[in-house]
Amino acid sequence: MRKKLLLGNWKMNKTPSEAKEFASSCEEMVKKAIDNNVDVGVAPTFVCLCPVVKYAPKGLIVSAQNCSQYDHGAYTGEVSIPMLKEVGVTYCIIGHSERREYDAETSEKCNAKIKALLAAEITPVYCCGESLATYEEGKTNEWVAEQIKAGMKDLTPEQAAKVVIAYEPIWAIGTGKSATKETAEETIGFIRKTLEGMFGAVAQDIRILYGGSVKPENIHDYMSMEDIDGALVGGASLKLDSYKALIDNLIG
Ligand code: PEP
Repeated sequence: MRKKLLLGNWKMNKTPSEAKEFASSCEEMVKKAIDNNVDVGVAPTFVCLCPVVKYAPKGLIVSAQNCSQYDHGAYTGEVSIPMLKEVGVTYCIIGHSERREYDAETSEKCNAKIKALLAAEITPVYCCGESLATYEEGKTNEWVAEQIKAGMKDLTPEQAAKVVIAYEPIWAIGTGKSATKETAEETIGFIRKTLEGMFGAVAQDIRILYGGSVKPENIHDYMSMEDIDGALVGGASLKLDSYKALIDNLIG
């Protein structure tokens, strides 16, 4: 049985003091999620990781939004996995469409990062998803299969089982235009089949999240689908009240 996961992607929002405020105020919500067998976490910016780790209640997953595939060296502006590990990060988002678009992040680079994260026992949350043009051309499956095959290349089935996949259609991210639960389920089912082709039966253990304008009003619909194991949420994860409502409606 795959455990549900709700991960808030804060993107480039919140100062360290705002992040601290959220982390110090979310104990009740985190307890509720854990008591209902749901993993719950946030992905703050690099500078907010330390305050969030320090002030978060036990059980709140703290995720980075990116990492370098290299351990150290002349990579100005980058943050390494050993650095993240030392501050207490346990998850890391990889290949978010905004990084693919603005920072030329390729699936091959994501593959190197995923392998490095697994070696450090940090859970990668590997994002895939198609543009509106690809969706309208009816080429979603081809597109995501390519991203999955390249990003998950050469992993063993044991390693693959430790990766979380996030399917995020780009046309649904931050647009308020979410995919229907049926569309999300269909593509996520296809992603699971692709993973089964690569890794066999272990594909049934891999958690696959949906992301793209998930809100308190629609999260329950997604969670009612068989193949959807949680959500990666941007805008609706920023305010504590909204995050609480996501948990309440995910569970209820
Ligand atoms: C995201 O940032 O991964 C995301 C899905 O954003 P939003 O929920 O705001 O669409």
